[in-house]
Amino acid sequence: MTATDPVALTAKLIRCPSVTPEEGGALALLERELSAAGFACARVDRGGVANLFARWGDKGHARTFGFNGHTDVVPVGDAAAWTVDPFGAEVKDGFLYGRGATDMKSGVAAFAAAAIDFVRDTPPNGAVILTITGDEEGDAVDGTTALLDYMDREGEAMSACLVGEPTCPNTMGEMMKIGRRGSLTAWFTVTGEQGHSAYPHRARNPLPAIAQLMDRLSSFTLDEGTDHFDPSTLAVVTIDTGNPATNVIPAQCTGTVNIRFNDTHSGESLTSWLQSEADRTAEEFGVAVEVRIKVSGESFVTPPGPLSALVAASVEAETGVMPELSTTGGTSDARFVKDHCPVVEFGLVGKTMHQVDERVEVAQIHQLKAIYGRILADYFAAL
Ligand SMILES: [Zn+2]
Repeated sequence: MTATDPVALTAKLIRCPSVTPEEGGALALLERELSAAGFACARVDRGGVANLFARWGDKGHARTFGFNGHTDVVPVGDAAAWTVDPFGAEVKDGFLYGRGATDMKSGVAAFAAAAIDFVRDTPPNGAVILTITGDEEGDAVDGTTALLDYMDREGEAMSACLVGEPTCPNTMGEMMKIGRRGSLTAWFTVTGEQGHSAYPHRARNPLPAIAQLMDRLSSFTLDEGTDHFDPSTLAVVTIDTGNPATNVIPAQCTGTVNIRFNDTHSGESLTSWLQSEADRTAEEFGVAVEVRIKVSGESFVTPPGPLSALVAASVEAETGVMPELSTTGGTSDARFVKDHCPVVEFGLVGKTMHQVDERVEVAQIHQLKAIYGRILADYFAAL
């Protein structure tokens, strides 16, 4: 049998316009390919989002390797700025172009192709599960979470999982992720009393209060970093009052901060800190301070162990580079998978993610498929 071509599969996926939450034909295409290769497939659609579950081998096998990825993509942005059709999958000078080329249709194509060839050529004593969502770039409420809920209900389980998001900053193989920082956003609303700027004593100006609060929060050292994490960060992302008049003290203003936090903190501990700072400001300035908080993900780490060692060794064998075990970057769906089984992330170079003229080196897609194939072989050989 001929090997499954991951580049052709990536190109076909790019031609499916699957901007979140549109399925765009991408999951239907994968379902056809995987079903033909002997995978039992189930569409797990929820809340207007399409997701695909696929398993080769016996349900509930004690040794089940999983892959996770997404076929949805971010919008094209300024279409006129692209030098190619964003959904055309054009190849130029060794690069495949299109929205989703790096994030992450190539990753999905590489693990699907690797899994198809692996179970056909060397059927393992075990099972392989692919969980592919159509909602990673959006709210991710009905994406990987829906797939994991489905698996719980159906008695499906992965023993270990690899998320195929791009993880390498510049060179293929240089980085894998064993955890991620958490992310929390806090919206503060300060309310005082409107008045004439010539008579500030007759008003209660909320602006000095928000200014001091934002300064206190952003100049506070959250921690010094931990074994597997850089120090946590807090960024003030906006301060607004929308006051067009120079002779009016406004009644209200808002400020927003985003925190990326390591395993020193939790959404809960940060929430109580932010609330106490809000209360302190309210007290000092005689204003009302309201806080609304959203925790997008808690921090997590899969401590270095057999899974990370196996993935790192496969990466080194195929690329000659031993990957750094990192926890940097934004959130990913690994934050959901970590509650199900040990999870690590490895994928190709993500330089042009979400950009105009997003592209991926064709050779890297082949290399990624070879790495994923080797991970499968080594995982089941280690029985
Ligand atoms: Zn992604």
